[in-house]
Amino acid sequence: MSFTADRLLLFGATGDLAQRMLLPSLCALHADKLVPDDLEIVGTARQPFDDAGYRNFAREALEKFMPPERRGSMATFLNRLTYQPLDANDIAGYAALAEKVGQPSQGLAIFLSTAPNLFEPTIAGLTAGGLAGSTTRIGLEKPLGTSLETSREINDAVARAFPEDRTFRIDHYLGKETVQNLLALRFANIMFEPLWNAAHIDHVQITVAETVGLEGRVGFYDGAGALRDMVQNHMLQLLALVAMEPPANFNATAIRDEKVKVLRTLRQVTPDETVTGQYRAGAIGGQPVPGYDEELGKDSDTETFVAIKAHLDNWRWKGVPFYLRTGKRLPERRTEIVVQFRNVPHSIFAGKGAQTVPNQLLISLQPHEDIRLSLMAKVPGLDRDGIRLRSVPLDIAMDDAFAGPTKRIAYERLLLDLIEGDQTLFVRRDEVEAQWEWIDGIRASWAGNGVTPKNYTAGSWGPSAAIALTERGGVTWHE
Ligand code: NAP
Repeated sequence: MSFTADRLLLFGATGDLAQRMLLPSLCALHADKLVPDDLEIVGTARQPFDDAGYRNFAREALEKFMPPERRGSMATFLNRLTYQPLDANDIAGYAALAEKVGQPSQGLAIFLSTAPNLFEPTIAGLTAGGLAGSTTRIGLEKPLGTSLETSREINDAVARAFPEDRTFRIDHYLGKETVQNLLALRFANIMFEPLWNAAHIDHVQITVAETVGLEGRVGFYDGAGALRDMVQNHMLQLLALVAMEPPANFNATAIRDEKVKVLRTLRQVTPDETVTGQYRAGAIGGQPVPGYDEELGKDSDTETFVAIKAHLDNWRWKGVPFYLRTGKRLPERRTEIVVQFRNVPHSIFAGKGAQTVPNQLLISLQPHEDIRLSLMAKVPGLDRDGIRLRSVPLDIAMDDAFAGPTKRIAYERLLLDLIEGDQTLFVRRDEVEAQWEWIDGIRASWAGNGVTPKNYTAGSWGPSAAIALTERGGVTWHE
Protein backbone atom coordinates (compact mmCIF):
# COMPACT_ATOMS: atom_id res chain seq x y z
CA MET A 1 0.00 0.00 0.00
CA SER A 2 1.38 3.37 -0.97
CA PHE A 3 1.61 6.03 1.72
CA THR A 4 4.11 8.49 3.11
CA ALA A 5 4.54 7.85 6.80
CA ASP A 6 3.84 10.73 9.13
CA ARG A 7 5.05 8.84 12.21
CA LEU A 8 8.44 7.19 12.61
CA LEU A 9 8.98 4.83 15.52
CA LEU A 10 12.65 4.23 16.20
CA PHE A 11 13.66 1.23 18.30
CA GLY A 12 17.21 1.36 19.65
CA ALA A 13 16.89 5.15 19.80
CA THR A 14 19.75 5.45 22.30
CA GLY A 15 22.15 3.14 20.47
CA ASP A 16 25.36 3.79 18.62
CA LEU A 17 23.73 3.61 15.18
CA ALA A 18 20.97 6.01 16.21
CA GLN A 19 23.49 8.53 17.52
CA ARG A 20 26.01 8.32 14.69
CA MET A 21 23.76 7.80 11.69
CA LEU A 22 20.00 7.79 12.20
CA LEU A 23 19.46 11.01 14.16
CA PRO A 24 21.94 13.00 12.01
CA SER A 25 20.30 11.62 8.84
CA LEU A 26 16.81 12.50 10.02
CA CYS A 27 17.99 15.96 11.06
CA ALA A 28 19.54 16.51 7.62
CA LEU A 29 16.33 15.39 5.89
CA HIS A 30 14.39 17.75 8.13
CA ALA A 31 16.77 20.64 7.39
CA ASP A 32 16.27 20.14 3.65
CA LYS A 33 12.48 19.84 4.07
CA LEU A 34 12.50 16.34 2.59
CA VAL A 35 10.36 14.71 5.27
CA PRO A 36 6.66 15.55 5.66
CA ASP A 37 5.99 18.70 7.74
CA ASP A 38 3.89 16.71 10.17
CA LEU A 39 6.37 13.82 10.65
CA GLU A 40 6.66 12.93 14.33
CA ILE A 41 9.52 10.73 15.50
CA VAL A 42 9.06 8.56 18.58
CA GLY A 43 12.22 7.03 20.02
CA THR A 44 12.20 4.00 22.26
CA ALA A 45 14.72 1.95 24.26
CA ARG A 46 15.01 0.93 27.90
CA GLN A 47 16.71 4.08 29.19
CA PRO A 48 14.16 6.00 31.26
CA PHE A 49 14.10 9.32 29.40
CA ASP A 50 11.12 11.63 29.18
CA ASP A 51 10.65 13.69 25.98
CA ALA A 52 12.85 16.53 27.20
CA GLY A 53 15.56 14.12 28.37
CA TYR A 54 15.62 12.38 25.00
CA ARG A 55 15.79 15.68 23.14
CA ASN A 56 18.84 16.56 25.21
CA PHE A 57 20.35 13.19 24.44
CA ALA A 58 19.63 13.66 20.73
CA ARG A 59 21.08 17.20 20.76
CA GLU A 60 24.32 15.91 22.23
CA ALA A 61 24.48 13.18 19.59
CA LEU A 62 23.89 15.70 16.78
CA GLU A 63 26.52 18.06 18.17
CA LYS A 64 28.97 15.19 18.22
CA PHE A 65 28.19 13.53 14.91
CA MET A 66 26.84 16.22 12.59
CA PRO A 67 29.09 18.75 10.88
CA PRO A 68 28.45 22.24 12.31
CA GLU A 69 27.33 23.64 8.95
CA ARG A 70 24.52 21.05 8.80
CA ARG A 71 23.13 21.78 12.27
CA GLY A 72 21.16 24.92 11.38
CA SER A 73 17.72 23.37 11.78
CA MET A 74 18.59 21.28 14.82
CA ALA A 75 16.26 23.07 17.24
CA THR A 76 13.16 22.62 15.10
CA PHE A 77 14.18 19.02 14.37
CA LEU A 78 14.38 18.24 18.09
CA ASN A 79 10.76 19.40 18.43
CA ARG A 80 9.72 16.45 16.29
CA LEU A 81 11.15 13.97 18.81
CA THR A 82 9.34 12.27 21.66
CA TYR A 83 10.36 9.21 23.65
CA GLN A 84 8.76 6.22 25.34
CA PRO A 85 10.86 3.92 27.54
CA LEU A 86 10.21 0.24 26.85
CA ASP A 87 11.91 -3.10 27.29
CA ALA A 88 11.19 -4.71 23.94
CA ASN A 89 10.56 -8.03 25.70
CA ASP A 90 7.74 -6.55 27.78
CA ILE A 91 4.63 -7.24 25.72
CA ALA A 92 2.38 -5.34 28.14
CA GLY A 93 4.45 -2.18 27.64
CA TYR A 94 3.46 -1.81 23.97
CA ALA A 95 0.05 -0.38 24.88
CA ALA A 96 1.74 2.71 26.31
CA LEU A 97 4.02 2.86 23.25
CA ALA A 98 0.97 2.74 20.97
CA GLU A 99 -0.58 5.56 22.96
CA LYS A 100 2.59 7.61 22.55
CA VAL A 101 2.67 6.95 18.80
CA GLY A 102 -0.99 7.95 18.53
CA GLN A 103 -2.98 7.72 15.33
CA PRO A 104 -0.97 8.65 12.23
CA SER A 105 -3.03 10.32 9.55
CA GLN A 106 -1.22 8.51 6.70
CA GLY A 107 0.88 5.73 8.15
CA LEU A 108 3.63 4.58 10.46
CA ALA A 109 7.22 3.60 9.62
CA ILE A 110 9.07 1.54 12.22
CA PHE A 111 12.83 1.11 12.25
CA LEU A 112 14.36 -1.67 14.36
CA SER A 113 17.88 -0.56 15.20
CA THR A 114 18.22 -3.25 17.84
CA ALA A 115 19.89 -6.63 18.09
CA PRO A 116 18.05 -9.25 16.01
CA ASN A 117 17.24 -11.38 19.07
CA LEU A 118 14.80 -8.59 19.96
CA PHE A 119 13.02 -8.72 16.58
CA GLU A 120 10.63 -11.57 17.50
CA PRO A 121 9.43 -10.10 20.82
CA THR A 122 9.22 -6.68 19.20
CA ILE A 123 7.02 -7.96 16.38
CA ALA A 124 4.82 -9.77 18.94
CA GLY A 125 4.59 -6.58 21.03
CA LEU A 126 3.79 -4.40 18.02
CA THR A 127 1.02 -6.81 17.04
CA ALA A 128 -0.38 -6.90 20.58
CA GLY A 129 -0.23 -3.11 20.81
CA GLY A 130 -2.09 -2.66 17.52
CA LEU A 131 0.97 -1.10 15.86
CA ALA A 132 1.28 -3.59 12.99
CA GLY A 133 -1.73 -2.63 10.87
CA SER A 134 -1.93 -2.27 7.10
CA THR A 135 -0.55 1.26 7.21
CA THR A 136 2.63 0.29 9.04
CA ARG A 137 5.89 -0.68 7.39
CA ILE A 138 8.97 -1.98 9.15
CA GLY A 139 12.71 -1.49 8.53
CA LEU A 140 15.15 -4.07 9.90
CA GLU A 141 18.84 -3.56 10.53
CA LYS A 142 21.33 -6.31 9.81
CA PRO A 143 22.33 -8.93 10.82
CA LEU A 144 19.30 -10.94 9.79
CA GLY A 145 20.32 -14.15 11.47
CA THR A 146 23.56 -16.09 11.49
CA SER A 147 22.54 -18.81 9.01
CA LEU A 148 19.80 -19.67 6.55
CA GLU A 149 17.85 -21.35 9.33
CA THR A 150 18.04 -18.47 11.81
CA SER A 151 17.36 -15.88 9.11
CA ARG A 152 14.23 -17.87 8.14
CA GLU A 153 13.10 -17.80 11.75
CA ILE A 154 13.46 -14.02 11.86
CA ASN A 155 11.85 -13.57 8.46
CA ASP A 156 8.96 -15.87 9.45
CA ALA A 157 8.40 -13.91 12.65
CA VAL A 158 8.39 -10.65 10.71
CA ALA A 159 6.14 -12.10 8.01
CA ARG A 160 3.53 -13.06 10.60
CA ALA A 161 2.85 -9.35 11.08
CA PHE A 162 4.26 -7.63 7.98
CA PRO A 163 3.88 -8.81 4.38
CA GLU A 164 6.95 -8.56 2.14
CA ASP A 165 5.80 -5.30 0.55
CA ARG A 166 5.89 -3.63 3.96
CA THR A 167 9.20 -5.19 5.08
CA PHE A 168 12.36 -3.16 4.41
CA ARG A 169 15.61 -5.07 5.06
CA ILE A 170 18.51 -2.69 5.25
CA ASP A 171 21.89 -3.21 3.68
CA HIS A 172 23.31 0.26 4.06
CA TYR A 173 25.75 -0.30 1.17
CA LEU A 174 22.74 -0.03 -1.14
CA GLY A 175 22.17 3.50 0.16
CA LYS A 176 25.65 4.59 -0.93
CA GLU A 177 25.74 6.89 -3.91
CA THR A 178 28.54 4.98 -5.67
CA VAL A 179 26.70 1.71 -5.37
CA GLN A 180 23.71 3.23 -7.12
CA ASN A 181 26.11 4.79 -9.57
CA LEU A 182 27.17 1.30 -10.54
CA LEU A 183 23.72 0.92 -12.07
CA ALA A 184 24.13 4.22 -13.92
CA LEU A 185 27.57 3.21 -15.15
CA ARG A 186 26.36 -0.14 -16.42
CA PHE A 187 22.95 0.77 -17.75
CA ALA A 188 23.13 4.44 -18.76
CA ASN A 189 26.22 3.99 -20.97
CA ILE A 190 26.40 2.02 -24.19
CA MET A 191 30.05 1.08 -24.04
CA PHE A 192 30.22 -1.27 -21.07
CA GLU A 193 27.32 -3.65 -21.51
CA PRO A 194 28.53 -5.29 -24.79
CA LEU A 195 31.85 -6.07 -23.06
CA TRP A 196 30.35 -7.06 -19.70
CA ASN A 197 30.71 -10.82 -20.01
CA ALA A 198 33.10 -13.77 -19.99
CA ALA A 199 34.29 -13.05 -23.53
CA HIS A 200 35.80 -9.71 -22.50
CA ILE A 201 36.22 -9.75 -18.73
CA ASP A 202 39.01 -11.80 -17.22
CA HIS A 203 38.00 -11.50 -13.57
CA VAL A 204 36.41 -9.20 -11.01
CA GLN A 205 37.80 -8.26 -7.60
CA ILE A 206 35.77 -6.87 -4.73
CA THR A 207 37.70 -5.65 -1.69
CA VAL A 208 36.32 -4.29 1.58
CA ALA A 209 39.35 -3.48 3.72
CA GLU A 210 39.14 -2.02 7.21
CA THR A 211 41.96 -0.72 9.39
CA VAL A 212 39.93 -1.02 12.58
CA GLY A 213 40.00 -4.05 14.85
CA LEU A 214 37.23 -5.19 17.12
CA GLU A 215 36.28 -1.69 18.33
CA GLY A 216 33.45 -2.10 20.84
CA ARG A 217 31.83 -4.99 18.98
CA VAL A 218 33.44 -7.80 20.99
CA GLY A 219 30.29 -9.77 21.82
CA PHE A 220 28.80 -9.48 18.36
CA TYR A 221 31.85 -9.91 16.15
CA ASP A 222 33.34 -13.00 17.70
CA GLY A 223 30.09 -14.84 17.09
CA ALA A 224 29.98 -13.66 13.47
CA GLY A 225 33.36 -13.29 11.73
CA ALA A 226 34.23 -11.63 8.44
CA LEU A 227 32.24 -14.03 6.26
CA ARG A 228 28.95 -13.36 8.00
CA ASP A 229 29.63 -9.74 8.93
CA MET A 230 30.71 -8.51 5.48
CA VAL A 231 30.48 -11.10 2.72
CA GLN A 232 26.96 -12.41 3.40
CA ASN A 233 25.41 -8.99 2.97
CA HIS A 234 27.42 -6.05 1.60
CA MET A 235 29.85 -7.92 -0.65
CA LEU A 236 27.25 -10.23 -2.15
CA GLN A 237 25.05 -7.23 -2.85
CA LEU A 238 27.94 -5.56 -4.67
CA LEU A 239 28.60 -8.77 -6.58
CA ALA A 240 24.94 -9.02 -7.55
CA LEU A 241 24.89 -5.45 -8.88
CA VAL A 242 28.05 -6.04 -10.90
CA ALA A 243 26.89 -9.37 -12.32
CA MET A 244 23.13 -9.03 -12.81
CA GLU A 245 21.39 -8.92 -16.16
CA PRO A 246 19.96 -5.52 -17.19
CA PRO A 247 16.63 -5.02 -15.43
CA ALA A 248 13.82 -3.70 -17.62
CA ASN A 249 12.96 -0.87 -15.22
CA PHE A 250 14.38 0.98 -12.28
CA ASN A 251 11.95 -0.38 -9.74
CA ALA A 252 12.08 -2.65 -6.72
CA THR A 253 10.73 -5.77 -8.40
CA ALA A 254 12.79 -5.56 -11.58
CA ILE A 255 16.08 -4.87 -9.83
CA ARG A 256 15.62 -7.39 -7.05
CA ASP A 257 14.47 -10.08 -9.50
CA GLU A 258 17.76 -9.72 -11.37
CA LYS A 259 19.90 -9.66 -8.22
CA VAL A 260 18.36 -12.81 -6.82
CA LYS A 261 18.91 -14.66 -10.10
CA VAL A 262 22.63 -13.92 -9.84
CA LEU A 263 22.83 -14.90 -6.18
CA ARG A 264 21.26 -18.24 -7.01
CA THR A 265 23.94 -18.97 -9.60
CA LEU A 266 26.79 -18.77 -7.07
CA ARG A 267 28.63 -22.07 -7.27
CA GLN A 268 29.54 -23.72 -3.99
CA VAL A 269 33.24 -23.02 -3.41
CA THR A 270 35.75 -25.75 -2.67
CA PRO A 271 38.01 -25.50 0.43
CA ASP A 272 40.99 -24.43 -1.71
CA GLU A 273 38.95 -21.51 -3.04
CA THR A 274 38.79 -19.76 0.34
CA VAL A 275 41.42 -18.40 2.72
CA THR A 276 40.68 -17.28 6.26
CA GLY A 277 42.87 -15.30 8.61
CA GLN A 278 43.03 -13.70 12.02
CA TYR A 279 45.22 -10.70 12.78
CA ARG A 280 48.10 -10.76 15.20
CA ALA A 281 49.77 -7.73 16.76
CA GLY A 282 51.29 -5.35 14.23
CA ALA A 283 51.12 -1.72 13.22
CA ILE A 284 48.60 0.42 11.33
CA GLY A 285 49.78 3.78 10.07
CA GLY A 286 52.92 3.44 12.18
CA GLN A 287 50.95 2.84 15.39
CA PRO A 288 51.28 -0.51 17.20
CA VAL A 289 48.01 -2.42 17.55
CA PRO A 290 47.26 -5.60 19.49
CA GLY A 291 46.25 -8.94 18.00
CA TYR A 292 42.64 -10.12 17.82
CA ASP A 293 43.10 -12.63 20.65
CA GLU A 294 44.56 -9.89 22.86
CA GLU A 295 41.66 -7.52 22.08
CA LEU A 296 39.21 -10.33 22.74
CA GLY A 297 40.98 -11.52 25.86
CA LYS A 298 40.89 -15.18 24.81
CA ASP A 299 41.73 -17.54 21.96
CA SER A 300 39.20 -17.72 19.16
CA ASP A 301 38.69 -19.43 15.80
CA THR A 302 36.77 -16.49 14.37
CA GLU A 303 38.08 -15.25 11.03
CA THR A 304 38.85 -11.53 10.80
CA PHE A 305 39.88 -11.95 7.14
CA VAL A 306 38.43 -13.95 4.31
CA ALA A 307 39.30 -14.24 0.64
CA ILE A 308 37.12 -16.22 -1.74
CA LYS A 309 37.35 -17.22 -5.38
CA ALA A 310 33.69 -17.27 -6.36
CA HIS A 311 32.09 -18.45 -9.61
CA LEU A 312 28.74 -17.75 -11.16
CA ASP A 313 27.34 -20.65 -13.11
CA ASN A 314 25.50 -18.83 -15.83
CA TRP A 315 26.01 -18.04 -19.48
CA ARG A 316 27.36 -14.53 -19.00
CA TRP A 317 29.97 -15.29 -16.36
CA LYS A 318 31.08 -18.86 -17.04
CA GLY A 319 34.77 -19.16 -16.18
CA VAL A 320 35.15 -15.62 -14.79
CA PRO A 321 36.35 -15.69 -11.17
CA PHE A 322 34.96 -13.12 -8.75
CA TYR A 323 37.63 -12.63 -6.08
CA LEU A 324 36.20 -11.34 -2.83
CA ARG A 325 38.41 -10.13 0.00
CA THR A 326 37.60 -8.46 3.29
CA GLY A 327 39.42 -8.08 6.57
CA LYS A 328 40.10 -6.08 9.67
CA ARG A 329 43.44 -4.46 10.51
CA LEU A 330 44.45 -4.26 6.85
CA PRO A 331 46.84 -1.47 5.80
CA GLU A 332 44.14 0.95 4.61
CA ARG A 333 40.42 1.54 4.64
CA ARG A 334 39.31 0.79 1.14
CA THR A 335 36.20 -0.51 -0.60
CA GLU A 336 36.49 -1.08 -4.32
CA ILE A 337 35.42 -3.13 -7.27
CA VAL A 338 37.94 -3.93 -9.99
CA VAL A 339 36.70 -5.16 -13.34
CA GLN A 340 39.67 -6.58 -15.20
CA PHE A 341 39.14 -6.80 -18.95
CA ARG A 342 40.94 -9.26 -21.21
CA ASN A 343 43.79 -8.23 -23.44
CA VAL A 344 43.22 -7.32 -27.08
CA PRO A 345 43.06 -10.53 -29.15
CA HIS A 346 45.93 -9.46 -31.39
CA SER A 347 48.38 -6.61 -30.83
CA ILE A 348 49.55 -4.78 -33.92
CA PHE A 349 52.19 -3.17 -31.68
CA ALA A 350 53.92 -6.40 -30.66
CA GLY A 351 56.23 -6.23 -33.68
CA LYS A 352 57.20 -2.70 -32.63
CA GLY A 353 58.30 -3.81 -29.19
CA ALA A 354 55.26 -2.45 -27.35
CA GLN A 355 53.14 -4.38 -24.90
CA THR A 356 49.46 -3.80 -24.37
CA VAL A 357 48.12 -3.90 -20.83
CA PRO A 358 44.49 -5.02 -20.50
CA ASN A 359 41.98 -2.31 -19.64
CA GLN A 360 40.75 -2.10 -16.09
CA LEU A 361 37.73 -0.41 -14.57
CA LEU A 362 38.15 0.57 -10.93
CA ILE A 363 35.08 1.60 -9.00
CA SER A 364 36.15 2.98 -5.68
CA LEU A 365 33.56 3.38 -2.91
CA GLN A 366 35.77 4.23 0.06
CA PRO A 367 37.56 6.32 1.14
CA HIS A 368 36.82 8.28 -2.06
CA GLU A 369 34.11 7.80 -4.61
CA ASP A 370 36.00 7.53 -7.88
CA ILE A 371 35.67 5.71 -11.15
CA ARG A 372 38.85 5.06 -13.10
CA LEU A 373 39.16 3.38 -16.47
CA SER A 374 42.68 2.53 -17.55
CA LEU A 375 43.31 2.85 -21.27
CA MET A 376 46.37 2.26 -23.41
CA ALA A 377 47.95 5.35 -24.95
CA LYS A 378 51.05 5.95 -26.99
CA VAL A 379 53.93 7.63 -25.20
CA PRO A 380 54.76 10.77 -27.26
CA GLY A 381 57.91 10.54 -29.32
CA LEU A 382 59.34 9.75 -32.75
CA ASP A 383 59.53 6.04 -31.97
CA ARG A 384 62.91 5.43 -33.63
CA ASP A 385 63.54 2.60 -31.13
CA GLY A 386 60.04 1.19 -31.33
CA ILE A 387 56.64 2.28 -30.17
CA ARG A 388 56.05 2.74 -26.47
CA LEU A 389 52.58 2.33 -25.01
CA ARG A 390 51.47 3.13 -21.51
CA SER A 391 48.34 2.53 -19.49
CA VAL A 392 46.81 5.89 -18.49
CA PRO A 393 43.77 6.50 -16.32
CA LEU A 394 40.54 8.13 -17.38
CA ASP A 395 39.51 9.39 -13.97
CA ILE A 396 36.22 10.63 -12.58
CA ALA A 397 36.53 11.91 -9.04
CA MET A 398 32.86 12.04 -8.12
CA ASP A 399 33.46 14.82 -5.57
CA ASP A 400 34.89 17.06 -8.28
CA ALA A 401 32.44 16.06 -10.99
CA PHE A 402 29.47 16.72 -8.72
CA ALA A 403 30.69 19.43 -6.38
CA GLY A 404 27.26 21.11 -6.34
CA PRO A 405 24.74 18.56 -5.04
CA THR A 406 24.69 17.91 -1.28
CA LYS A 407 26.48 14.70 -0.38
CA ARG A 408 24.06 12.36 1.36
CA ILE A 409 25.01 9.56 3.67
CA ALA A 410 23.41 6.18 3.00
CA TYR A 411 20.97 6.36 5.90
CA GLU A 412 19.47 9.64 4.67
CA ARG A 413 18.47 7.91 1.49
CA LEU A 414 17.30 4.73 3.19
CA LEU A 415 15.27 6.45 5.92
CA LEU A 416 13.55 8.63 3.32
CA ASP A 417 12.79 5.57 1.17
CA LEU A 418 11.37 3.83 4.25
CA ILE A 419 9.18 6.83 5.07
CA GLU A 420 8.01 7.08 1.45
CA GLY A 421 7.75 3.33 0.86
CA ASP A 422 10.27 2.71 -1.94
CA GLN A 423 11.78 -0.79 -1.61
CA THR A 424 14.26 -0.61 -4.51
CA LEU A 425 17.30 -0.26 -2.26
CA PHE A 426 16.17 -2.78 0.35
CA VAL A 427 16.90 -6.49 0.31
CA ARG A 428 14.10 -8.92 -0.46
CA ARG A 429 13.68 -12.11 1.54
CA ASP A 430 14.64 -14.40 -1.33
CA GLU A 431 17.90 -12.46 -1.77
CA VAL A 432 18.79 -12.80 1.91
CA GLU A 433 18.08 -16.50 1.77
CA ALA A 434 20.10 -17.08 -1.39
CA GLN A 435 22.98 -15.21 0.28
CA TRP A 436 22.76 -17.33 3.41
CA GLU A 437 22.53 -20.56 1.47
CA TRP A 438 25.88 -19.89 -0.20
CA ILE A 439 27.50 -18.68 3.04
CA ASP A 440 26.24 -21.71 4.98
CA GLY A 441 27.85 -23.94 2.35
CA ILE A 442 31.21 -22.21 2.85
CA ARG A 443 30.97 -22.55 6.61
CA ALA A 444 30.04 -26.21 6.30
CA SER A 445 33.06 -26.82 4.08
CA TRP A 446 35.32 -25.09 6.62
CA ALA A 447 33.88 -27.22 9.41
CA GLY A 448 34.10 -30.40 7.34
CA ASN A 449 37.73 -29.77 6.41
CA GLY A 450 38.89 -28.45 9.78
CA VAL A 451 39.75 -25.03 8.32
CA THR A 452 40.96 -22.58 10.96
CA PRO A 453 42.17 -19.02 10.32
CA LYS A 454 45.82 -18.47 9.44
CA ASN A 455 47.65 -15.71 11.30
CA TYR A 456 48.43 -12.43 9.59
CA THR A 457 50.19 -9.40 10.95
CA ALA A 458 47.99 -6.36 11.55
CA GLY A 459 48.83 -3.85 8.85
CA SER A 460 49.40 -6.49 6.15
CA TRP A 461 47.01 -7.57 3.39
CA GLY A 462 46.11 -10.83 5.13
CA PRO A 463 47.70 -14.28 5.09
CA SER A 464 50.09 -15.06 2.23
CA ALA A 465 47.71 -17.82 1.16
CA ALA A 466 45.34 -15.07 -0.01
CA ILE A 467 48.00 -13.97 -2.49
CA ALA A 468 48.46 -17.55 -3.64
CA LEU A 469 44.69 -17.84 -4.13
CA THR A 470 44.73 -15.30 -6.95
CA GLU A 471 48.21 -16.04 -8.25
CA ARG A 472 47.28 -19.63 -9.01
CA GLY A 473 44.95 -18.07 -11.60
CA GLY A 474 47.62 -15.63 -12.82
CA VAL A 475 45.91 -12.73 -11.04
CA THR A 476 47.32 -10.13 -8.64
CA TRP A 477 45.19 -8.39 -6.04
CA HIS A 478 44.77 -4.71 -6.79
CA GLU A 479 46.82 -2.83 -4.20
P1 NAP B 1 23.84 -0.59 20.44
O1 NAP B 1 24.67 0.64 20.51
O2 NAP B 1 24.15 -1.75 21.31
O3 NAP B 1 22.33 -0.11 20.73
C1 NAP B 1 21.31 -1.02 20.97
C2 NAP B 1 20.02 -0.26 21.20
O4 NAP B 1 19.03 -1.20 21.58
C3 NAP B 1 20.11 0.75 22.34
O5 NAP B 1 19.30 1.85 22.05
C4 NAP B 1 19.56 -0.03 23.51
O6 NAP B 1 19.06 0.89 24.43
C5 NAP B 1 18.46 -0.81 22.82
N1 NAP B 1 18.09 -2.02 23.56
C6 NAP B 1 18.91 -2.99 23.99
N2 NAP B 1 18.21 -3.93 24.64
C7 NAP B 1 16.91 -3.53 24.61
C8 NAP B 1 15.70 -4.08 25.09
N3 NAP B 1 15.67 -5.22 25.77
N4 NAP B 1 14.57 -3.40 24.87
C9 NAP B 1 14.57 -2.23 24.20
N5 NAP B 1 15.67 -1.66 23.69
C10 NAP B 1 16.83 -2.31 23.91
O7 NAP B 1 23.74 -1.14 18.98
P2 NAP B 1 23.91 -0.33 17.61
O8 NAP B 1 25.33 -0.29 17.25
O9 NAP B 1 23.16 0.95 17.67
O10 NAP B 1 23.24 -1.31 16.56
C11 NAP B 1 21.84 -1.51 16.47
C12 NAP B 1 21.58 -2.56 15.40
O11 NAP B 1 22.09 -2.08 14.17
C13 NAP B 1 22.30 -3.88 15.67
O12 NAP B 1 21.52 -4.94 15.17
C14 NAP B 1 23.57 -3.77 14.84
O13 NAP B 1 24.07 -5.02 14.45
C15 NAP B 1 23.05 -2.99 13.66
N6 NAP B 1 24.10 -2.23 12.97
C16 NAP B 1 24.85 -1.31 13.64
C17 NAP B 1 25.81 -0.59 12.96
C18 NAP B 1 26.64 0.47 13.66
O14 NAP B 1 27.43 1.10 12.97
N7 NAP B 1 26.48 0.69 14.94
C19 NAP B 1 26.02 -0.81 11.61
C20 NAP B 1 25.23 -1.75 10.94
C21 NAP B 1 24.27 -2.44 11.65
P3 NAP B 1 18.85 0.60 26.00
O15 NAP B 1 20.09 -0.05 26.49
O16 NAP B 1 18.56 1.95 26.55
O17 NAP B 1 17.68 -0.30 26.07
